Amino acid sequence: MAQRKPDVDWVNRFADEVIAEAGRRSPGRPVVVASGLSPSGPIHLGNLREVMVPHLVADEIRRRGLECVHILSWDDFDRLRRVPADVDPSWAEHIGKPLTSVPAPPGSSYPNWAEHFKAPMADALQRLGVEVRGISQTQMYTSGAYVDQVLLAMRERARIDAVLAQYRTRPRPAAAVVAAALDERAGDDAAAEEALSAEAAAEEGSGAAAEEDGATSAGYFPYKPYCSACERDLTTVTGYDDATTELTYTCACGHHEAVLLSEHRNGKLVWKVDWPMRWAYEGVIFEPSGVDHQAPGSSFTVGGRLVSEIFGGEQPIGPMYAFVGISGMAKMSSSRGGVPTPAEALEIMEAPVLRWLYARRRPQQSFSIAFDQEIQRLYDEWDAVGRKTADGTASSLDAGSYDRAIRTAAGRLPVTPRPLPYRTLASVADITTGDRDQMLRILSELDPAQPLTSLDEVQPRLDCAQHWVATQLPADQQTRLAAEADTAALAALTADQRTALDLLLAGLDEHWSLEGLSRLVYAVPKLQAGLPADAPPTPELRAAQRAFFALVYRLLIGRDTGPRLPTLLLAAGPERIRKVLSG
Ligand SMILES: [Zn+2]
Repeated sequence: MAQRKPDVDWVNRFADEVIAEAGRRSPGRPVVVASGLSPSGPIHLGNLREVMVPHLVADEIRRRGLECVHILSWDDFDRLRRVPADVDPSWAEHIGKPLTSVPAPPGSSYPNWAEHFKAPMADALQRLGVEVRGISQTQMYTSGAYVDQVLLAMRERARIDAVLAQYRTRPRPAAAVVAAALDERAGDDAAAEEALSAEAAAEEGSGAAAEEDGATSAGYFPYKPYCSACERDLTTVTGYDDATTELTYTCACGHHEAVLLSEHRNGKLVWKVDWPMRWAYEGVIFEPSGVDHQAPGSSFTVGGRLVSEIFGGEQPIGPMYAFVGISGMAKMSSSRGGVPTPAEALEIMEAPVLRWLYARRRPQQSFSIAFDQEIQRLYDEWDAVGRKTADGTASSLDAGSYDRAIRTAAGRLPVTPRPLPYRTLASVADITTGDRDQMLRILSELDPAQPLTSLDEVQPRLDCAQHWVATQLPADQQTRLAAEADTAALAALTADQRTALDLLLAGLDEHWSLEGLSRLVYAVPKLQAGLPADAPPTPELRAAQRAFFALVYRLLIGRDTGPRLPTLLLAAGPERIRKVLSG
């Protein structure tokens, strides 16, 4: 094995492994990595890892000058399993139809259910710099691309059944049923709920669990037709003739039919056979999957047997990736029942920052994406790594993941030309309630030596911060500047408090910048104590500073705390401050 630098990151390690494996399996051909998503509903931000892990590896391979194809398999020929709570319940009549045969939700401009949910994900991936070759499984199956593989699987059904049997437990306990339900492709945004309903279905004896891998009372058949009468998959294969490829099925709707499988296009292999078939068909070298796919007897394990024993291929290198959580998403702001999507994350953070979250963590490490105040700290960290990378003081690991975040082999992602702190931009957006003129005035006063001349200099970060304030900052933490003086409160001030406010007002003009106001607000309690403005802090001075800040916050915004005081003062402007604090 080649000598490696000790701090080579996980992406480099997988790229080495994948390139070596591709060279062994298919020398001279482009490297193939794969992801799979089910457009059964809004695609959860958590499922982005399914795409980002292979993307980063593919991108590293491309950076090394090798050709790499990243397949994104859209499992749009899967059945509709359930109707999301916010969609007209009458859509339940479409349960069991392929996702591409279900009408799009009411009001959608897309031709069908699958396209409606694919589109925002495809758009988010494009914005993230993720270059994929999308493959519609509906298109593949209905065009007949897999006919040979389907006929092969049917011919070998006894061997497939024998492999599956080694992983089936006798009477499947509830836990296995739940595991089977969880063993769906990515996109199971309500996996737990689905697992429960699968458990309930099994208890009712509907055979949901057995259908999972193709077992029927008439024998084992890995192919499941959609009914030509009702379009649903409530079908049971009742017989198959290898010589003629005639397949007979019945449907719960009462329809029964005989078709020639060599010509039939309206059906698919069951998932546990479908996945390994595609590994072989596409020559996939790398395809990670979620922890739920890698339990004993899961589709990844079983697929590893079937791909080589039936389809003549090899199992991809398939690391398990851990779940990605979301912290603090305001329920009201999610477009669909508390399920944030990548598009929603990109409304509050720039694409490189979202890429960075995935690049800097090994796939088996779980992490959370911050929708709460934590995003400000995340951005501070991001800016610090950016500065250290620019001046050469970042560790090579930090510099490496930063580089994976800001560019791909195809080029750089858009960045904010002047990356002012996210927390500052959020405060300014908050205080001004997004007024563009006011925001420009305040932001250009932050640093009078280098005034901002246009909001474009802080875009797209400003839009992200503004959207975060509007959708994620709780109402009781939003800042509303007092328009008028509270005369009763001013009348009740002590003489010391009045003096402190007067010292502040007297210094405003001379200190009108972010830095100047920072010095001024800390200096006021010192001046009041008869000390010079640059006196070293003492515990007493710190207490006096805290009390003074709280006083100013209460008078200006009616709370004891708020955005950083100098930012707040800049935002308020000298006239408003005088009006509210002088009485
Ligand atoms: Zn039917």
